[in-house]
Parts: sequence; structure tokens; C-alpha cells
Amino acid sequence: MVEFLNNNIFKIISDVAKPANEEVYVIGGFVRDQLINRTSKDIDVLVVGDGIGFAKKVKAHIGHNVSFSVFKNFGTAQIKYKGLEIEFVGARKESYRANSRKPIVESGTLQDDQNRRDFTINTLAISLNANNYGAFLDPFGGLEDLENKIIKTPLEPGTTFSDDPLRMMRAIRFATQLNFTIEEQTRQALYDYRDRITIISAERITDELNKIMASTKPSVGFKLLSKAGLLSYILPELEELRGAETQDGIGHKDNFYHTLQVLDNLCTVSDDLYLRWSALFHDIGKPRTKRFEKNHGWTFHNHNFVGAKMLPKIFRRLKLPLNDKLTYVQKMVNLHMRPIVLAQDIVTDSAVRRLLFEAGDDIDDLMDLCEADITSKNEQKVRRYINNFKLVRQKLIEIEEKDHVRNFQPPVSGELIMKTFGLTPSKPVGEIKSAIKEAILDGDIPNNFDEAYAFMLVKGKELGLTQIR
Ligand code: ATP
Repeated sequence: MVEFLNNNIFKIISDVAKPANEEVYVIGGFVRDQLINRTSKDIDVLVVGDGIGFAKKVKAHIGHNVSFSVFKNFGTAQIKYKGLEIEFVGARKESYRANSRKPIVESGTLQDDQNRRDFTINTLAISLNANNYGAFLDPFGGLEDLENKIIKTPLEPGTTFSDDPLRMMRAIRFATQLNFTIEEQTRQALYDYRDRITIISAERITDELNKIMASTKPSVGFKLLSKAGLLSYILPELEELRGAETQDGIGHKDNFYHTLQVLDNLCTVSDDLYLRWSALFHDIGKPRTKRFEKNHGWTFHNHNFVGAKMLPKIFRRLKLPLNDKLTYVQKMVNLHMRPIVLAQDIVTDSAVRRLLFEAGDDIDDLMDLCEADITSKNEQKVRRYINNFKLVRQKLIEIEEKDHVRNFQPPVSGELIMKTFGLTPSKPVGEIKSAIKEAILDGDIPNNFDEAYAFMLVKGKELGLTQIR
């Protein structure tokens, strides 16, 4: 018997079911996850009959120390007990119409409920009934598919996907998260029914994308999305990175695969969701800036800048947050070449200072992104870059200790400039302020008040201003 069934909550549920001979099962994601040693605390209990009514009896049986909520709209009730969240739901039978992923729902049997589930590995049920406690009810061979790491729909895949196209995203998400293979007919149906994705809301799609993003190797998901033809609907800008053109015998790398490699690389060092999105989008401006120049070969001038400008539209479409998360991703995309340029050159203090100033507190994330961006197959080149990056990181620490420009605040305020020269808010105030900032970033003066004040006086004089105090 599966070990989790020793947990006394399942015994309690079984006892509650006994007097009226009610049919109850633990089903779906929890069973799947237990069998592959994946942590999950959300337990779905299926009741053939009234799920909410049954949950009330379980609550009464346990007594106090139980948090109980009913979700009338979903016909479910939830009990929180000893760190577990147990959801009770009545068995359902579903039928679909063409223009909506919302089915017509009626009560049904265990088999009806298993039929409506998305993948065989998600149909597994274990009996909690006294007469066969612990028995597997596995009409679709879910156990075998779990063993063989296969994602396969229980019924005809075309109907399954056409009924609820979100399942297409879920298939690819599970394949990515669990490192499973999508069975051939199911894969073909993904392609055949790809245009059905258009009835799914952006929020739902992005939920799944975020789960793909949070997995160990998100490239798996994006390659599958692309193969299934779904990526063109969801993120055409990423699909457009595909291809390696050659002209006059000069080729460029395929930026789709490069991007996915960068994303996977980054995922080995950071779990930050938006840094991961930054990796996915870092070269998104390349197709729009691609040129072939006689003397230089392929160039992508300003692709970082153009890419950052494309992001608000993409975020809006995907219903990703249009707040500081967007600003952060834009900043990463915009600055992603800077450390590389530094690493190629002799690393000057002033270049490091400027980078620190522009990246601020996000400098470490930016460095992680840039290191992930090294995907060259030339080992010597990779080693040289990595060594140079070490140097840049060291320099970043030294300069920050010395000059504190990471969160730069002008040491002399506009107010003081105005008082000193008897000015009202006007152009010269801005000019002096920015000259002070530039002098600090260039290393002409240190970042402190006295030096900045003295510099202000000189600058004021140059502009023909008179010091009045
Ligand atoms: P995760 O918790 O990682 O999202 P899960 O499989 O537990 O995975 P839930 O969304 O909690 O996902 O769904 C619980 C169960 O409900 C699934 O295991 C599956 O049997 C079923 N299910 C969920 N969404 C669908 C769907 N769109 N179509 C059919 N069955 C679904």
C-alpha cells in the first residue's frame, strides 16, 4: 500500500464514508506526485455524490482545530488539517461546446470523473473505501505511463485538447517540470489543434509559462511550444529568433537556441522568475535590428535598446505585471551587453563606475545574466570571458567600496546650487548637477561633498555665474 495512506486523515475519511457506504477516492495530482516523490500538500478527495456534504461530516468527525471553507461556485469544500489542504469534490461528468473551455457539468461516477481529466498520469485514483482501501483505480494505464515518464491523454487527444485547449499548455508544462515525454499521438494533436489556444485567456497561458519558467530546464518547454506551433500564437517574438542566415559565406548563430541556452544557464544560478524572463528576452530585439554589412558581417546594433522597448507590449499581451518587474526586465535587457564589452576590454575604473551607477542594486543579477550569455563552443574563448568576468566582478567590489556609486545620490543638491549662485530652477542648475555626476563617474573627483562643492564653484565660474554665498 502507498505509504501516505498511513496518514490518519485518510483513515478518518474512510471511517466517515463507512456508515452510508459512500464512495471516496484520493485522486489526481497528489497521487501522481506521491508516486514520483514530488512534494505536494494539496490533496484532492473525490466523493461520488455530494462533496461539500461529505466534507462537513469529516469536519464534524475531527472536531476543532480544523479550518473549513466552502467554495460554492466550484462545488468544493476545503479542510486544512495538520499542514495539509484537503479539497473535497463530487464526481463530475463534463461535456463541452466549441466556443468555450467551460463545460456543461453534471454529477457522475468515478469513471466519468477520470474520463474528464487531462492526462493518464492525472487520472490515478486510490480507494479510501473500507472494502478495498488502498486499491488503485487506473483505467487508463496511468501507473505504467508514470513509470515510463509519458504524458498521454486518456481519451482521444484531439477531443481532449479541442474541449479545453489549456490542456495543451499543461501537457508541455508537465513534460518540462517532470522531464516526461509527450506520447506521439498526443504530440500530433498538439500541433493539429494549436489554433484552439486562441480561446484561452492570457492569464491562464502565462500561469503555465511561469511554471515552465520556474522549472529546472525551461528550454524543454519552449522547444515543445515551438514544435507544436503554439509559440507563434503566444510569443511570436521568440519564434522570430529562429534561423541562422548565411550571406557571403558568413553565418550568424540561431538566436532561438542561443536564447534557450542562456535561459538554462541562468537557471542553474538563479531562481528569480523575472531574471529568468530577462534571459528569455535578452536578445528579443535581434530580428528587428539584424543587418548584413559588407565590412562587418552580421550586426544587431542597438538590439538591447530595441528589445527593451518591445517589452511593454509583450508584457501587456501576456498580462505580466506592468510595474517595477517590467522596469527591471527592461533594465536587464538594455544593459545585458555592458559587462561583456567591459570584459573584452581593459577594465577601466570609470567604465565600472558607470555600470555600477546604471545597474544599481541589480548589478549582481546583471552579472549572472551576462555570464549565462556565454554560449560559445570555443573553450578557449569561454575561459577567457569567464576570467575577465571574474576581474570585472572584483573591480565592481573595489570601486563600490571606494566610491559608493551603486545607489548614487548627488553629493551637492540642486537646492544648494541655486542658493550658492542665486538661481531659480533653470538650465544651469541641471548643467552643474550633471557635470558633478559625470566628474564623479569619470573619476575626476571622488564621491564626497567637499570635492563636489569645490567642483561646483569652478563649474559655476565657467558658466559665468557669481557666487553670492
Ligand atoms: P499542479 O499542482 O502542478 O498544477 P496538478 O495536476 O495538481 O498540478 P491542478 O491544477 O491542481 O494540477 O489539478 C488537479 C487535477 O485536476 C489534475 O491532476 C487533473 O487530474 C485535473 N485537471 C486540472 N486541470 C485540468 C484540465 N484543464 N483538464 C482536465 N483535467 C484537469
